[in-house]
Amino acid sequence: MKHTTRLLIAALAMWTVSCIPLTAQEEFTYNGDTGPGYWSDLESDFSACAASPSGHQSPIDIDAVIEDSRLDTLNLLLSEMPFTLINNGHTIMATPKFGGTLRLDGDTYTLAQFHFHTLSEHAVEGNRGAMELHAVFTDANGNNAVIGMLYKIGRPNLFVQQLIAAGLPKLTTSAPVTINRLGLGDAFTDTSRYYTYAGSLTTPPCSENVSWVVLKQWAELSPEQFEAFRTILGNDFRPLQKRNQRVVRATAR
Ligand SMILES: [Zn+2]
Repeated sequence: MKHTTRLLIAALAMWTVSCIPLTAQEEFTYNGDTGPGYWSDLESDFSACAASPSGHQSPIDIDAVIEDSRLDTLNLLLSEMPFTLINNGHTIMATPKFGGTLRLDGDTYTLAQFHFHTLSEHAVEGNRGAMELHAVFTDANGNNAVIGMLYKIGRPNLFVQQLIAAGLPKLTTSAPVTINRLGLGDAFTDTSRYYTYAGSLTTPPCSENVSWVVLKQWAELSPEQFEAFRTILGNDFRPLQKRNQRVVRATAR
């Protein structure tokens, strides 16, 4: 084949690939032309992801908080239960076999799943953690309450070690991993001290139906444990969003 013909075919092949339109299967990513700045363009029902002066998007930098002495220790009911770990292409997510509840502002939320972001998504006074855990709870009306907990590099973390020991699923095609007994309550540091604000899911469709609870006390994990997650997740944190007119309340403790 002549050199010019080969070039032409290669160019045509590239053109064909680049002209494939975005489909419903198009996945959001954390960089490039399907990255956070473009999420709202990927699908019509991702419009909440767009920056807006009245938006209630997450994550945010937690700063200038207002103490509220009415905020009590979190009312959590979490027993040990089996979990299934999967890699969904955006995060490592654990789904419980059965419930677990969080009562917040008179509403009851049921544990749906927990997952991780590296680095952390929330920042506190401009400081990011190495990793963030999100425990997602949902109420009967489809509203969410999410407990966020940031990690810094330090001592080995017993809860995180249980997930690593079970085998973190590396790829979306990896088989799901079952953990027979895991107490999510063991993951949390101090559930009596936290920040809370009204926000959104940090992934498309970025729905603004999340009561965020971010624990004040950061957890620790070892450099090796961080690496185990980081090599699989890469950068899966959404950039900080504008706080706009929102109030962030904090426990008085
Ligand atoms: Zn998350």
